[in-house]
Amino acid sequence: MSSHGNPEKLKVPYLDLKPAIVPLMPEFTAAIKSVIDSCAFCLGPEVAQFEAEFAEFCGTAHAVGLNSGTSSLHLAMRAHDIGPGHEVITTPYTFAATCWAISYVGAKPVFADIQRDTFNIDPRRIEEKITPRTRAIIPVHLYGQPCDLDPLINIAEKHNLHIVEDAAQAHGASYKGRRTGGFGTMGCFSFYPAKNLGAFGEGGALVTNNAALADRIRSLREHGSSKKYLHEEVGYNYRMEGIQGAVLRIKLAHLQEWNNKRRRIAQRYHEGLSATPLRLPIEQPHSKSAWHLYVIRHPERDKLKAFLENAGIGCGLHYPKPMHLQQCYTSLGHKPGDFPIAEEAANQCLCLPIYPGLNDEMVEYVITTIHRFFADGNSFSGITP
Ligand SMILES: *Cc1c(COP(=O)(O)O)cnc(C)c1O
Repeated sequence: MSSHGNPEKLKVPYLDLKPAIVPLMPEFTAAIKSVIDSCAFCLGPEVAQFEAEFAEFCGTAHAVGLNSGTSSLHLAMRAHDIGPGHEVITTPYTFAATCWAISYVGAKPVFADIQRDTFNIDPRRIEEKITPRTRAIIPVHLYGQPCDLDPLINIAEKHNLHIVEDAAQAHGASYKGRRTGGFGTMGCFSFYPAKNLGAFGEGGALVTNNAALADRIRSLREHGSSKKYLHEEVGYNYRMEGIQGAVLRIKLAHLQEWNNKRRRIAQRYHEGLSATPLRLPIEQPHSKSAWHLYVIRHPERDKLKAFLENAGIGCGLHYPKPMHLQQCYTSLGHKPGDFPIAEEAANQCLCLPIYPGLNDEMVEYVITTIHRFFADGNSFSGITP
């Protein structure tokens, strides 16, 4: 690794939110000022407007603004009356919050391994996990790539299960021409700043076509109350803030354009890296990924990561340890080897920079640096992962 440094002194941050924000600064300041003027800090008209616009974007009848994606998954479990003694099937290869929702209500997460090519839950592994206690499936559209939803919907219908989509990474992704979020009984979104649609702080939303479920979620997010000081059930303070609603409205208008930028970067990576021994991410023919992350795989991931970082390129690990092997879930009794495809992905995954503010020069620099890694014999490059 001796000669490498970074001759051009180019730095490629793993994520930089600033370039997409700066051109919209006047809009953000005006919108935030108007929320301050109105003092509608929690929920309020900007959140209501955002809910209407986001529901329309997702092609659903309702959207409910919340304070995080974790909250939206939690409320989806509550609204389906999932609790102790119940099981919910999901993927072990996801961000922890997917599983928190199941654990928060006292239910048990039951894992099904992923597909090697898409990183998403394998529909063929689900039915063997269904028991009389199973209530729901949470498919996660990981990295923005929609799960293969039709087989999942068939299984859910056959066994009378709910589908709660974890679409926290898939704003604007589509499956067979329809946007993610509207396929399940509920769809859960996060507006954490790093997501494709990110707030200026925490935020989330739940979308659904079911009016009764939407009402229940609205009540649950406000202390289990649909009439002030009358509490139908034990609820939460999971309201979206007014400023976040105002910011998200402005950003939503640019989401498609930003997703298209991500798509072009993914295409360029794909062309530029196809001659390397890396396993590259694919897009299923019936789907359009939101390209939240661009995740390559290689058995010498750690060496490649160090090489890229040494060259000034930030990279990420989403996720280096699958949920079934996390300390918090030792009580589930899993061991290495239980979900081999998820474990392989965790050991080999490496996320390259992908965001609207990434410029062409940076993308080319990432590509040439990866070629240099293999050309310099840093890897046993003859072996295909
Ligand atoms: C980000 C994320 C969440 C949680 O969202 P927060 O807004 O951070 O609470 C849940 N699931 C997945 C897959 C995520 O990426």
